[in-house]
Amino acid sequence: MNAKNLKLLYEGKAKKIFEFTENEVIIFFKDDVTAFNGLKKDSLSGKGKINKKISKFFFDMLEKENIPTHFIKDIDENSFLAKKGKIIPLEVIVRNYTAGSFCKRYGLKKGIKFKNPILEYSLKNDELGDPMICKNIILSLNLIENNLLEKIENYSLKINNIISNFLLEKNLILVDYKLEFGINNNEIFLADEISPDTCRFWDKNTMESFDKDIYRENKGNLIDKYKEFLRRINL
Ligand code: UDP
Repeated sequence: MNAKNLKLLYEGKAKKIFEFTENEVIIFFKDDVTAFNGLKKDSLSGKGKINKKISKFFFDMLEKENIPTHFIKDIDENSFLAKKGKIIPLEVIVRNYTAGSFCKRYGLKKGIKFKNPILEYSLKNDELGDPMICKNIILSLNLIENNLLEKIENYSLKINNIISNFLLEKNLILVDYKLEFGINNNEIFLADEISPDTCRFWDKNTMESFDKDIYRENKGNLIDKYKEFLRRINL
């Protein structure tokens, strides 16, 4: 992609967003990887194109199941065209098994399956370290209308079923993941990415990770694991 003539709207830890038209942006996936709120940081050659490929794959899958996403069309190995919209300042976290911060918070070992998926929210705010927030506070602060929040919850749980079922066929489990949503003309759509940077994927039998925990926990070569994940899902 020739980004020279495009206006950079936003640069995050793992992506750059360029203005394309009034209603469209180009999402560019960088090779940068960070953990612990940016305290650990590296650039791993090839990560951007892998995450773009996986995100496009899942967005396609979800669109077919009537989940609106921001994906419009492919641009190149590292970028795709996406709908422009206002990003809702919430991170939706869905958990099927205990892992990560949930284990720390409640002193639990990892890998316990929940009776039902757990849905949590964080307020998107790097300075505050994305604090957890509950539905009550979200609505009381008027961050979003109730009917739109319900839509987000429905989409988030439907996404859980679609991706979990797909992965189970490959003997993989969707442990937990983070979603972000955008809004345009009162229409909610899934935005951001769905990748091993934002999800935990484990082998069903061995609990081996194919996600950013490899980097967080210094458990080996992240790119090799992401490539193995690509092979496991036949991409
Ligand atoms: N997650 C994310 N971005 C965040 C926080 C969490 O993509 O800013 C993802 C994370 O990769 C995992 C899930 O959301 O798949 C749950 O993360 P958790 O709350 O356990 O936090 P972590 O252990 O990653 O700090």
